[in-house]
Amino acid sequence: MNTTRSKSLFQTASKYIPGGVNSPVRAFKSVGGDPIFIQKAKGAYMYDEDGNRFIDYIASWGPMIMGHAFEPVVKAIQERVENSTSFGAPTELEIQLAQLICESIPNVDRVRMVNSGTEATMSAIRLARGFTGKEKVIKFAGCYHGHGDSFLIKAGSGAVTLGHPSSPGVTKGTAKDTLLAEYNDLLGVKELVEANKGEIAALIIEPIPGNMGCILPEEGFLEGLREICTQENIILIFDEVMTGFRLGFGGAQQALGIEADLVTYGKVIGAGMPVGAYAGREDIMEFIAPNGPVYQAGTLSGNPIAMVAGLTLLQYLKDHPQVYDELDQKCHTIQNGLESILPETGLPWTINRKGSMISLHFTNESVRDFDSAGKGANEHFKKFFHGMLKRGVYLPPSAYESWFLSHPLSKEDIEHTLESARLTFREMQ
Ligand SMILES: *Cc1c(COP(=O)(O)O)cnc(C)c1O
Repeated sequence: MNTTRSKSLFQTASKYIPGGVNSPVRAFKSVGGDPIFIQKAKGAYMYDEDGNRFIDYIASWGPMIMGHAFEPVVKAIQERVENSTSFGAPTELEIQLAQLICESIPNVDRVRMVNSGTEATMSAIRLARGFTGKEKVIKFAGCYHGHGDSFLIKAGSGAVTLGHPSSPGVTKGTAKDTLLAEYNDLLGVKELVEANKGEIAALIIEPIPGNMGCILPEEGFLEGLREICTQENIILIFDEVMTGFRLGFGGAQQALGIEADLVTYGKVIGAGMPVGAYAGREDIMEFIAPNGPVYQAGTLSGNPIAMVAGLTLLQYLKDHPQVYDELDQKCHTIQNGLESILPETGLPWTINRKGSMISLHFTNESVRDFDSAGKGANEHFKKFFHGMLKRGVYLPPSAYESWFLSHPLSKEDIEHTLESARLTFREMQ
């Protein structure tokens, strides 16, 4: 694979941009080698600056659920952009997107738009603190909630990929208000709540984590959290930035049948434009400014181009629910394929999957929390990543990330992916 131009672009980028990238996991640090610079993408394919084509399993880390340059979204943006890109005053589009979300998600009465998943979780936590008058929050090791200070304590995703799950620059004062629990450990949460009785404002969790690979909740775990939060007046926040509108229109809440008090969104909600949102019950959400005392604002929040992109994609997904079944089928085919190849390879492996999120961990242990996810972050993964890349299959460059499927993936694409995996595994033995 020729990567001359990408290499040269990375050298130049590194002179002007810290580490040559604007978000760390793009830098390929944990898998080695230089990042690939993308020129364009269409459907399930990305094309780099050297003219290589890749089957894309990142999908912009989730938003491109209908594939790149999805025509209805492109058209809507093109039409709208003529009317200016931002006003700093309300538009009807904001109502349409908010209404669509509130009418589709049973426990969501109000939604506030922001510009990223990070902003959504930061704001949700502030709101939970303001609403309950309490200060501490519980988060789970390996769950990633963006780069807000309170969350960079054993965070997943890029933070752990680069070996800084807890970042310098976060003050001791902030860190002491974040209590850390282990995913799938209900007893541990009960003990934390007992030890901090009456002090916990919120419990934030990726209901189905995708930032330490894909991990599934064990029976009773999330139900137990729901019960504790209700009993102890703790705001339960489901961070659905990854799972929202991906595991189904109603996200993990719908897939699991559990309702949180606040929900955060990002990724799919903006169709690839910078959008996040937090949403929930009326009494909590009305606590935000201008009606309530908890301040949160954004010059570009509810941006008309971002709103029309999100609205067009969400409306399409709502009108075509079969998309979710078809994505599930495609991902199932990949899982089945890998499961039939892997036993012959002698490699250690575990596969976790929910809907169109899947992760392959090079360990024989079951992967159910942050520690067990770490067992798969090894040399096997690096070799696997590069073996797939050179065969034209672009996987997330980290053992801690879920793959994201997009709807335009064809039968041939999936066959090529599985054949590439077979050849790569052979090289790895
Ligand atoms: C990606 C992600 C975030 C952060 O969103 P950004 O838009 O990158 O700030 C937060 N929570 C989860 C679960 C995510 O997957």
